[in-house]
Amino acid sequence: MKIICIGRNYTEHIEELQNEKPEEPVVFIKPDSSVLPKSNPFVIPEFSEDVHYEVEVLVKINRLGKYISEKFAHKYYNEIGLGIDFTARDLQAKLKAKGLPWEKAKGFDGATLIGRKWFEKDKFDLNDLNFSLSKNGEVVQDGNTKFMLWKIDELISYVSQFFTLKIGDIIFTGTPSGVGKVNEGDVLTGKIEDHKVFKVNVK
Ligand code: ZN
Repeated sequence: MKIICIGRNYTEHIEELQNEKPEEPVVFIKPDSSVLPKSNPFVIPEFSEDVHYEVEVLVKINRLGKYISEKFAHKYYNEIGLGIDFTARDLQAKLKAKGLPWEKAKGFDGATLIGRKWFEKDKFDLNDLNFSLSKNGEVVQDGNTKFMLWKIDELISYVSQFFTLKIGDIIFTGTPSGVGKVNEGDVLTGKIEDHKVFKVNVK
């Protein structure tokens, strides 16, 4: 199983990190070893002083495909979820400055939280879906998929030009603004509309 992530898919988040607006989606992959085992706490790795949360809507691929056209992309997933793309921002900044790959900053053990609840996509309007992340009970990220630069079906079509999508692959569709640092003792909870999707403790 691979985890395909989209960077810079929400305008406000691009502005907060002072990144340039991309002409094509920014794509990277996290290894399956980065998935945080269910009910484990997130442990801040020793090599970072500045790990950020990034809450993102997830798409679970349920059909093998390559060169999927946007028109048929909806046939390749049935469920959506929510997760966190944990990012060692200090390390990422160093790598970015040198033009080096980000993997160490985003693919370390535990850096991928996949919420345990999945929802049938037909339950929601995917072009107007509210989702949020709370830290210690306070909302820190409040997103809506209508602000995505590339919609889910466009992303599937785009990434499938490069990677064969396999059953069980997960796409992280990018984070809205409000990313921030996690600290020991934090409790992070994620919601899609009014549905609680995950809760994780930080150690
Ligand atoms: Zn991300």
